[in-house]
Amino acid sequence: MLYEDGIPTPEDLARINPSAERLSQGPVVIIECFQRIPCDPCHTNCKTGCILPFEDLNDLPRTDDSLCDGCGLCVAACPGLAVFIVDMTSGGEDHAVVQIPWEYLPVPEKGQQVVLTNRVGNAIGRGECLKAIRFRDRTYVLHLRVPAELAMEARGISRAVLTRA
Ligand code: SF4
Ligand code: SF4
Repeated sequence: MLYEDGIPTPEDLARINPSAERLSQGPVVIIECFQRIPCDPCHTNCKTGCILPFEDLNDLPRTDDSLCDGCGLCVAACPGLAVFIVDMTSGGEDHAVVQIPWEYLPVPEKGQQVVLTNRVGNAIGRGECLKAIRFRDRTYVLHLRVPAELAMEARGISRAVLTRA
């Protein structure tokens, strides 16, 4: 229940997830932001117009998914770490690429194996860090190669495993 534990329900996610058709066409933003707060850097950092103008600063973000190019600027800009990019067309056979924000140390390196976690923080499988990008001095954006069936669930990685590695 979102307002009790911060975890969105399947119904919450169904409202914001891109269509299966759009997911099959290339990288697309997924904004898991469900609480009205005065915040809009996702919109102001989107150069393509995909994240639509806010009528009120407290609005929840709305998107025109057809305009997303998967650049990841919004992932780095969101202070709530609520923005992700899913690309079901990359990553090779039976895999996808997911971009997630990362504000911890260590920062995983290219080629490093990682343990994927879901929205609750539970380990759900293994992935590979393809790259870690930093836009200016902002939050890192990790590009993770993940099994395709985990692309809509993998929303973090285990820091404990990185620290031990
Ligand atoms: S990934 Fe880039 S184009 Fe897509 S919504 Fe984010 S900032 Fe806009
Ligand atoms: S920047 Fe992040 S927290 Fe702020 S409105 Fe956009 S998605 Fe929500």
